[in-house]
Amino acid sequence: MIEPSHYISKTVKDLKPSGIRKFFDLAASMEGVISLGVGEPDFVTPWSVREASILSLEQGFTSYTANAGLLELREEIAYYLQGKAKVSYNPKEQVLVTVGASQALDVALRAIVNPGDEVIVIEPSFVSYSSLISLAGGVPVSVQTSGEMEFKLQPAELEKAITEKTKAIILCSPSNPTGTVLEHEELVKIAEIIEKHDLLVISDEIYAELTYDHEYTSFVSIEGMAERTILVSGFSKGFAMTGWRLGYIAAHKDFLSEMLKIHQYSMMCAPTMAQYAAIEAMKNGREDVLYMKKKYKQRRNLVVSALNEMDLTCHVPGGAFYVFPSIKKTNLTSEEFAEQLLLEEKVAVVPGNVFGDSGEGYIRCSYASSLEQLQEALRRMQRFVENKI
Ligand code: PMP
Repeated sequence: MIEPSHYISKTVKDLKPSGIRKFFDLAASMEGVISLGVGEPDFVTPWSVREASILSLEQGFTSYTANAGLLELREEIAYYLQGKAKVSYNPKEQVLVTVGASQALDVALRAIVNPGDEVIVIEPSFVSYSSLISLAGGVPVSVQTSGEMEFKLQPAELEKAITEKTKAIILCSPSNPTGTVLEHEELVKIAEIIEKHDLLVISDEIYAELTYDHEYTSFVSIEGMAERTILVSGFSKGFAMTGWRLGYIAAHKDFLSEMLKIHQYSMMCAPTMAQYAAIEAMKNGREDVLYMKKKYKQRRNLVVSALNEMDLTCHVPGGAFYVFPSIKKTNLTSEEFAEQLLLEEKVAVVPGNVFGDSGEGYIRCSYASSLEQLQEALRRMQRFVENKI
């Protein structure tokens, strides 16, 4: 008999399983649960996009593509980024199609991190960042943000966390889990620090399509930042394509060629049929995206006002499909709140502490559900909160 744990790498052993899963598993074992827990659109991928993929299969396009992805797709991505991020990327040398933004983040980190390099993560943060940094051999360093400041990164806090070992910082605007969007002037202030300390940025812009109040500003559009930023994005959120597993990276060609090596050896290429779908999404998906965005905005407005009315105070998040209300009035911890809400009222939310220390005292609610479901969930939450406050 072998003891498998003796063979597992220390880095992997030390990784914490995602705190989100625990609640999903519990919710899945119960009936009648309304889940505001998942971070994915409730919409099905637009039909024309699905159809393009079906057509590619009918035509027999079932082999590998170029490692970097179909050139036509890379051209579409470059064209799209020209409009969205205001930067011209050469599709042949500066764009890499990946298996979701998840793989894009992995490849980006593995390409730049030497053992012991520090990478700064802004908390509350998407749960994968710290683990991916550790897997790449780096050291995650967290910078906290606060609910009072709408979870916006404060440049002075960022600067305090920088050491001679800092290699990069990961930015995520709009943010998962807080929905916070950093505006142009705020990004300029961050860029000044990046430049001063000669750092790289991994800018996770997966929610770029989902901003509701202001025109979106990509970090790469800030002067001097395009060359030192690895832009990560994908189709999962804006185009409702989570299951297709398709994302991309845009970066300086010398970063891209190194990331391509990792991608080539570990992945070969992203799924071919998904790439054909993505070409259609880029070419003709605009109207569908705008339709979904309109729906998300209505839902956001409903959820934010209902939560504030029941004294679960939250700022109006400018993007993504999450709200991050404070539950401090209940005197419960985030975990207690989420667990009791699930067991007593059958509403699943994610406790804020799984996203980092500054998430304690908050919960993440996703509003990627129908208005009817959201209304019912909010009724149940109100009943729950009245009993606790
Ligand atoms: N970044 C963020 C901030 C996310 O929220 C997610 C998905 N939850 C991802 C990356 C990964 O997206 P994908 O489905 O493209 O791998």
